[in-house]
Amino acid sequence: PYDMLVVGAGPAGASAAIYSARKGIRTGIVAERMGGQVADTVGIENFISVKATEGPKLVAGLETHVRDYDVDVMTSQRVTSLKRNKLVEIELDNGAVLKSRSVILSTGARWRQLGVPGEEQYRGSGVAYCPHCDGPLFKGKKVAVIGGGNSGIEAAIDLANIVEHVTVLEFDASLRADEVLQKKARSMDNIDIILNAQTTEITGDGKRVNGLTYKERTSDTLKTIELAGVFVQIGLVPNTEFLQGSEVELTGRGEIIIQSNGSTTMPGVFAAGDATTEPFKQIIIAMGGGATAALGAFDYLMRESVS
Ligand code: FAD
Repeated sequence: PYDMLVVGAGPAGASAAIYSARKGIRTGIVAERMGGQVADTVGIENFISVKATEGPKLVAGLETHVRDYDVDVMTSQRVTSLKRNKLVEIELDNGAVLKSRSVILSTGARWRQLGVPGEEQYRGSGVAYCPHCDGPLFKGKKVAVIGGGNSGIEAAIDLANIVEHVTVLEFDASLRADEVLQKKARSMDNIDIILNAQTTEITGDGKRVNGLTYKERTSDTLKTIELAGVFVQIGLVPNTEFLQGSEVELTGRGEIIIQSNGSTTMPGVFAAGDATTEPFKQIIIAMGGGATAALGAFDYLMRESVS
């Protein structure tokens, strides 16, 4: 068996695997894909000490760093369940079972997609999901934020300080964001809020986004807006479906509940990164979380081996 088995090889998992291997204990990392969301990212400008880099470059760096240590790297493997049977057992979709004394869950998350024409085509060329990451790329331009929940209104306020103008499109008849956020957004003169708006298409010139079309649900008429960017803010979905019914407690939104040392409700199982209740979903934060979870798990192993 492993001493520490990491599930997921994004920034959180890579960091956890390195911290574990550096303790000289038997470490494995199992994941569908090396790098996670970073593999889908174009420009990264907030990875502190590296002024600017690109997703694939950072992924290559993560992989080289992990492989520099004595870590069993198992990619193209999907985990389907987790249970305790003295050791923690992780089942893979090919039927194999991996056993470990401790486990770190770092399966990340995915942005909920709108599912309209143009979204896929212009992803990274005007269609964005992370205002902290991509906001500055739209400096002085017009953008839309789709979604009027807390993340959408926070994004609009954040972006309004950088871009020329923000249009918020909300499907429902009212915004779901906290009242203070709504008030703040309404007080900014470069934010417009459109309710009852169903986005039906993101348009472009073949290279980049140039606008969007929405249906005004009260009148059933189609309207268009000219824009340079569209931020989709309709939720982040944690990749934790495989934990449903396990001892690992999730929030209503599917996030793994963690304590400050990365521990979950299941003894010996720790978690880090976007799959957890960590409120901010960023590369540098996921890496810090991975380090915390590995140190938390190592502490657990030291105590467990005595008892
Ligand atoms: P992830 O990166 O999501 O990695 C999850 C890992 O788990 C992957 O290896 C995946 O294959 C694996 N996995 C998932 N489910 C299973 C399963 N059942 N079995 C096995 N393996 C599984 N952040 C920044 O700080 N700066 C940026 O500029 C930036 N830009 C972004 C741009 C885009 C387009 C996106 C999508 C995100 C961006 N982010 C950015 C956010 C950042 O990428 C995430 O916060 C970070 O990757 C989270 O790391 P993680 O390790 O928790 O999860």
